Amino acid sequence: MKYLSTRGHADRKQFCEILLEGLAPDGGLYLPETYPQVDAATLEKWRAVYRDSGYADLAFEVLSLYIDDIPAADLKALCRKTYTEAVFGTPAIVPLRQLEPGLYLEALSNGPTLAFKDMAMQLLGNLFEYELARRGEELNILGATSGDTGSAAEYAMRGKKGVRVFMTSPQGRMSPFQQAQMFSLQDANIHNIAIEGVFDDCQDIVKAVSNDLDFKRKYKIGTVNSINWARLLAQVVYYFAGYFQATQASTGSARTEGQKVRFTVPSGNFGNVCAGHVARMMGLPIDKLVVATNENDVLDEFFRTGVYRVRASADTHETSSPSMDISKASNFERFVFDLLGRDAARVADLFGAQLSTQGRFDLSGDTTFQSAARHYGFASGKSTHADRLQTIRDTFARFGTMIDTHTADGLKVAREHLSAGVPMIVLETALPIKFAATIEEALGQLPPRPARFEGIEALPKRVQLMPADAAAVKAYIASHVD
Ligand SMILES: *Cc1c(COP(=O)(O)O)cnc(C)c1O
Repeated sequence: MKYLSTRGHADRKQFCEILLEGLAPDGGLYLPETYPQVDAATLEKWRAVYRDSGYADLAFEVLSLYIDDIPAADLKALCRKTYTEAVFGTPAIVPLRQLEPGLYLEALSNGPTLAFKDMAMQLLGNLFEYELARRGEELNILGATSGDTGSAAEYAMRGKKGVRVFMTSPQGRMSPFQQAQMFSLQDANIHNIAIEGVFDDCQDIVKAVSNDLDFKRKYKIGTVNSINWARLLAQVVYYFAGYFQATQASTGSARTEGQKVRFTVPSGNFGNVCAGHVARMMGLPIDKLVVATNENDVLDEFFRTGVYRVRASADTHETSSPSMDISKASNFERFVFDLLGRDAARVADLFGAQLSTQGRFDLSGDTTFQSAARHYGFASGKSTHADRLQTIRDTFARFGTMIDTHTADGLKVAREHLSAGVPMIVLETALPIKFAATIEEALGQLPPRPARFEGIEALPKRVQLMPADAAAVKAYIASHVD
């Protein structure tokens, strides 16, 4: 399998080449040249693999269709090292919980940092270590986080040979739990940098450092942001696992061939739901992919109107589902590429020229957009703070299940897209303890805390406070790379 850029750059690359790269040289995102097709017989074979050998081996089945520059035995070992009960809490790894007949939560948040980003980041940590060792190279990961991404990256890379992490975050803006999760890590290869500023300042610093090509090359600067294809690919696996569990539960031992399901995905950068799109393109019978947003409704607006309008920082709301507080959806270009029949020149015009000059593009008059719902099965909806509180209360009162604020956005929107006889699977993207203040506001009680996080706020913190200044961050990196 070779990979191409959504903006048409001529090179075709192997998986391990794009693993350590960010954007393609032309500013586009990498996608496989084709989507391998999974027929009904293979689907049933994979169902048996998941049931009999477990999630790690299912992951190997999916990944091996996209990766041919890692020997199969090594790839299988990497999957088995990653998806263990010890790391993810259950043998199913992504167990399904029924709320009511036909409506399920798929638990993706039982990994080390209690958010779904662990599902991909844990694999990425092992892939990086493997590939860097093979090349005899090192990588210094520079990132910006408002919460979940940074901790997932740090827990995935801690103690890994050949990798250091320099993670910037806005001083005092993360929840106390999120700060404690990151800053309590004592591993020598993990560096927390608290910036006197907001998240955008952190992102600007990362951009400024990455744009200094000499520095980037000299200090081997890399990223782990959500546009990384390996992260997206890892996420494809749990759409299959969710499908197998939901169709088993709804049909018993009866034939499941042709049974369709729907997924609702709490969305920000369109990474999670884009993996669902890939699963669907491979042939997984997904009838609808429902994109759920919070008040930052860039994506909902697009799927309703055909207009994609990037927001200014000042128009980006700070909400109680903060991991979905985005001004633009960085993975969206991948879907639009497929939507437009893989017309790279048009994608380059929309995402290059039009977005940079007008901050928006409009596909409403385009026949491809009009058929998007039919061909690609996308739907969308939006949820507000009041909706989140209401959904958290209702779910707790009726089912005794406590859900986090992002999952609440998903469940609220999912209920608007139910269809009789089609199981609806809502992806649970974080555990409630990460957003305790809003849970307390909704329920008048604090969420349960997994035993391993007892008292983390009191642990010693390893963090360097710095002004919002790229030069200061560069100097810090230079002095911590031997
Ligand atoms: C990152 C994140 C999201 C958004 O996922 P995308 O892939 O950016 O769409 C939703 N919920 C939680 C809890 C997250 O951490």
